[in-house]
Amino acid sequence: MKHDRDFDPNYGAAVEILPGVRRLTVNNPGPFTFFGTNTYLLGTSRLAVVDPGPADAAHVEAILKATSGASIEAIVVSHTHVDHSPAARMLKERTGAPIVGCGVHRAARDLMENEVNPLDASGDRQYAPDQHLHESEVFSAAGLTLQTIETPGHTANHLCFALAEENLLLSADHVMSWSTSIVAPPDGSMRDYMTSIDKLLNRPEQVYLPGHGGVIHDAHSYVRDLKQHRLSREASVLRELAGAPQTIPQIVARLYADVDPALHRAAGLSVFAHLEDLAGRGLVSASPGVSLTATFSLQTS
Ligand SMILES: [Zn+2]
Repeated sequence: MKHDRDFDPNYGAAVEILPGVRRLTVNNPGPFTFFGTNTYLLGTSRLAVVDPGPADAAHVEAILKATSGASIEAIVVSHTHVDHSPAARMLKERTGAPIVGCGVHRAARDLMENEVNPLDASGDRQYAPDQHLHESEVFSAAGLTLQTIETPGHTANHLCFALAEENLLLSADHVMSWSTSIVAPPDGSMRDYMTSIDKLLNRPEQVYLPGHGGVIHDAHSYVRDLKQHRLSREASVLRELAGAPQTIPQIVARLYADVDPALHRAAGLSVFAHLEDLAGRGLVSASPGVSLTATFSLQTS
């Protein structure tokens, strides 16, 4: 599938995307963050700051500089990954603005016996919102109206926000232009992700502002491609198992043969997400039980 990797992070300074919508990218580039996390500044004289980013003092200063002369009325958080939410507390300390948005960090399911959460380091467990926004809830700040859309999958608490005044959706890490998003158990869930993908296709917005990378235009066609990409990945996993029972490393070695081995661990988590979903739907069985180290077979009923 085709991604858009053309992006100028313009570190340290806000870029105007539309009147009253600015993007300020954190200087935290990496294999999972692209050029860095996008913070959005919404409004003009009164502002809402969306996803202030990691605990990065220089970025907090850049936010304050870009918003000087205006009042920050709300700090909005989409999900509790360490590259999105920790600076909310730093910004609250400096401005007194409340933190609103997703609920506290949690996994999509309970840990299984002996399961070590491979994603532990990415969760911001200190995050505690002043106001937890739920499905369809409308939040007004800075003269704007944000509608909450629960979109679990990347994380269990992930939210997108529709900007009622524009044909615009803040898609955070659920839909990004530069890459597919990471869906990995136990924090994430492929079943939830696919439901959340369909949810966006049933909404009107066609322009998305993602948590990493550039603006997505013609978003529905892109989201349909993302859905197709996951469905074809699921079909290849099933095809692999049609040959013989296999472990996740065996499946990864075949399906990701042309991918940098440094990314095979992440690929394994993604295959695990598909297998967990397939097992939940009764299409695959796992021995001894569904886990990263199990052997998976097609379920013959
Ligand atoms: Zn992110």
